[in-house]
Amino acid sequence: MSTGNRSAKALLTPITDDLMYLGAVFAEEADFRPDPERAHEQLAERLTAFEGPVAEALSQVKDPAGVVYSRISQVTVEEPWHVGRVVLAGDAAHASTPHLAQGAAMAVEDALVLAQSLDSEEDVAGALAAWEARRRPRAMFVQNLSRAILKQETGTPTTPEEDELLKIGIPGAAHVLVKPY
Ligand SMILES: Cc1cc2nc3c(=O)[nH]c(=O)nc-3n(C[C@H](O)[C@H](O)[C@H](O)COP(=O)(O)OP(=O)(O)OC[C@H]3O[C@@H](n4cnc5c(N)ncnc54)[C@H](O)[C@@H]3O)c2cc1C
Repeated sequence: MSTGNRSAKALLTPITDDLMYLGAVFAEEADFRPDPERAHEQLAERLTAFEGPVAEALSQVKDPAGVVYSRISQVTVEEPWHVGRVVLAGDAAHASTPHLAQGAAMAVEDALVLAQSLDSEEDVAGALAAWEARRRPRAMFVQNLSRAILKQETGTPTTPEEDELLKIGIPGAAHVLVKPY
């Protein structure tokens, strides 16, 4: 379940019958670092507008060590993702903002398509070129739409290209990504 407003977004994912993953995204000053003694309280302060299941899950977060904070960042390797027999894949080549929740999916796909390419192409150089030609547009689609959603959610101006992508939106992206390609 995901819910939010302009200043914060919260995500609940059940892990086991009695364990819940609570994720939250909010804007901070560039030099913000959570206080290790009261990170759980700082998280609660940022999610005061949330009621229901988010507030319920939050009330269970009593240990600051249970809060993992990291800045959202994106990686776009413009250079080829392969040199000789060495390949950059997954986050190392194309880490996305979390807004489509597709980072792990893209990393797994990279590996599967790499295996297919190595099976079907004559030599390693051809296989790596074919792999990247197939993977780059898809990973960039995820990254560009993901970043556009972040901008939209935070009220950051978007480019005309991003506005086009936003017409697809999160449900549309799921339809695009589920199709064999
Ligand atoms: C909080 C959070 C929630 C997420 N939720 C989702 C989600 O719902 N869906 C989704 O698809 N994605 C999600 N992601 C993104 C996903 O986790 C990543 O995109 C994915 O793990 C990338 O896989 P990877 O194999 O490229 O990199 P990683 O999973 O980062 O694996 C790289 C590995 O290399 C190891 N390593 C690093 N340096 C060295 C070294 N020098 N020597 C040896 N080993 C090294 C690291 O320890 C690590 O184990 C989420 C990420 C975060 C942080």
